[in-house]
Parts: sequence; C-alpha cells; structure tokens
Amino acid sequence: MDVTSFGIDHDVLLRGVYVSRVDEVGGDFVTTFDVRMKEPNREPVIDTAIMHTLEHLIAIYYRGNKEWADKTIYVGPMGCRTGMYFVFKGKLTPSDVLSSITSSYEYVLNFSGEIPAAKANMCGNYLDHNLPMSQYESKKFLNEVLYGIQPENLEYPKINYS
Ligand SMILES: [Zn+2]
Repeated sequence: MDVTSFGIDHDVLLRGVYVSRVDEVGGDFVTTFDVRMKEPNREPVIDTAIMHTLEHLIAIYYRGNKEWADKTIYVGPMGCRTGMYFVFKGKLTPSDVLSSITSSYEYVLNFSGEIPAAKANMCGNYLDHNLPMSQYESKKFLNEVLYGIQPENLEYPKINYS
C-alpha cells in the first residue's frame, strides 16, 4: 500500500482541496481528495461529533446530486480530525470537484431539521452529532478557504528529504 500522504510536508500544509491519491482499480481510476479543513498541528482539530455530522450530511448531499451521485464512492473523516476524504470515480483534479465540494459545505450550512440516518438502527453512535457546530465549521471553511481558494490551497507541499 502506497500511503502518498506520508510524503507531504504537514508542517506547511494549508487548508484546501488536494489530490491525496489516484488509484487504478479494475481498469478504472479512483481519486481520493484530501479536503483539509484545519492546518495540521497548528490549530485545534475538529470535534468528533462535528466530523460525524459533516459525514452524514455531505453523504446525503452527494446521494441527491444528479451529476455526482454515481461518481461518489465515499466521504468520511480523517483519523487526525483535520479534514475529510472525498473519494470519486475517475482521474480528477481539484478543479473538477471544487464546485461540488463547495456546494456540499453550503448544504451543511443551510441544513435544518433532523440529521439524516442519525437513528440507533442506522448509525454506530447516533447521539454523537453536532449540527450547529458543523455549520460553524462549514461557514468558516467556505469563507476562509473555498470561496477565495488559491493555488497553494490546491497543491501539496512535498517533503524535501535532502
Ligand atoms: Zn453515523
């Protein structure tokens, strides 16, 4: 297993939308995006309940998206809690996915009502959700990163081993 993300320099990694890896699976490509919401080791990470709500709502957003539903494989939190992984079919670049990712955070921001699938029979920890704070984090990420995204928020800084 090639863990590409171990070669990126987390000391200077900014928030943004990065290609984490492209895999070939059965003749087709799959692209994993690193959607980084926090600067690693330089700001507080996202609470688990917030990550959990983002996971549920962004999954629902993609399920209902005509263009992306069939291309979306998985969206879920990083173990380090500084961002989310978005996995799509195809060999894609950040510019291919930026508008749908932006819309997915806007969906969270504007969501009201009961969190989908947050029921004991559908979720492994159904009480562990936080809608207001997931909206706070979405708004912050939209305003501070996605709406004014720069080249340095779209390409990984590589570790210089020399
Ligand atoms: Zn759940």
